[in-house]
Amino acid sequence: MRTLGLAFCLISAMSALPGAAVAQSSCARVFTPSSRPQDVAEKLKALEDIYRATKNPDLLTNAQGLLAKEGIETLLDDSREFPGLIILPQGDSRISKIARGLDRRGVELRYSIAALVEKSVHASYSPWHRTITMDAASFGAKGPSPSLLHEIRHAVDADWAVQTENGFERLFQAKITTREMEREATLPGAVSKNSYTTYFSLDEILAHRQSAGIALRRLKREIDAEKHANLLRYLQQHALRFIHFSESWKATSRVFEGELSRRNLAVEPVRHASSKKYFWVSLIVDEPASLNWFQKNILRQTEGNPWQGLRMTLLFNERDTAVLHRGEKDAQKIFLKRLEKIDVLLGALEAPAREFYEATMTFKPGQSTERMENALRDLHRALAEHRRDLDRMG
Ligand SMILES: [Zn+2]
Repeated sequence: MRTLGLAFCLISAMSALPGAAVAQSSCARVFTPSSRPQDVAEKLKALEDIYRATKNPDLLTNAQGLLAKEGIETLLDDSREFPGLIILPQGDSRISKIARGLDRRGVELRYSIAALVEKSVHASYSPWHRTITMDAASFGAKGPSPSLLHEIRHAVDADWAVQTENGFERLFQAKITTREMEREATLPGAVSKNSYTTYFSLDEILAHRQSAGIALRRLKREIDAEKHANLLRYLQQHALRFIHFSESWKATSRVFEGELSRRNLAVEPVRHASSKKYFWVSLIVDEPASLNWFQKNILRQTEGNPWQGLRMTLLFNERDTAVLHRGEKDAQKIFLKRLEKIDVLLGALEAPAREFYEATMTFKPGQSTERMENALRDLHRALAEHRRDLDRMG
């Protein structure tokens, strides 16, 4: 549960900033007339490539210098697993303003060459450190990339979830992970092509819907055939994930319901770091189903419960967390009620998610995007209806 979030940015070509040309000498201009002035995003990506080959940690200082020239103030920080530059919430650059907005929510914006290269992700959000690791592209002329916007959505949802009135966002703060399982395992119902096979947060549904909306708007404007094809692939991938997310969550829920009735679960409440009124409550499959004499000695089975170590983490308010301690029956009721609420929500998303999938898979360039837009709007509407109900209930 350390770092969550994978996001894919397929829009990479950055237009050059006019100011960058000034740095070139007139001599260079004569001999290399075709060389395009680079914007800061391209320069940072070049540093990432050098890092990939050399692993030189000093490249971060070069990055800091490049950003300073753009008016982006940063602070070198090596207190984390990978050193990085904290984007300071001051100054007038676009990214400084984003950092300022995030800072107000207690979220740090960070650029780390090492983290991006070593973990090979475009951007990520760590709910524990309350940090977004951003991509180089977002410093460029096109502004924040879809990957960064995706991670910002996760960070904002996490912040909203601990405000009393936002029962909707709270429901989506639900995570499942196989990381403590003994052997390498995938989540129940997870499809191998899906990237979220060992860790999944329900909040991905909200973040993916937002990313799909952004991609669809871009696709409508895109005239370059290759970029158009990339955007369509991105949409198809998202459409498929809505279906996978739902299947994986539902299968995992069934496992937990079974383990709950067999009393094979440990309950671990941890007070929320930024809001004392809320608790992260984990359910962990921890009692191996005991093998009988025949299984052990004749069948020579050594394995106990295959879901040993599987963890589900949900966000509860103080009142419900107190009920968890009252006794097994009350605790079961609280968990089952939460799982039921999520089931109802996923049920409502099923039809529009399938329609969105079919619309993206059958779409051909030149066609109207209306079917995709309608399906995505229906998905949004289904979410909005639940938001009204859940926020009312708290
Ligand atoms: Zn995500």
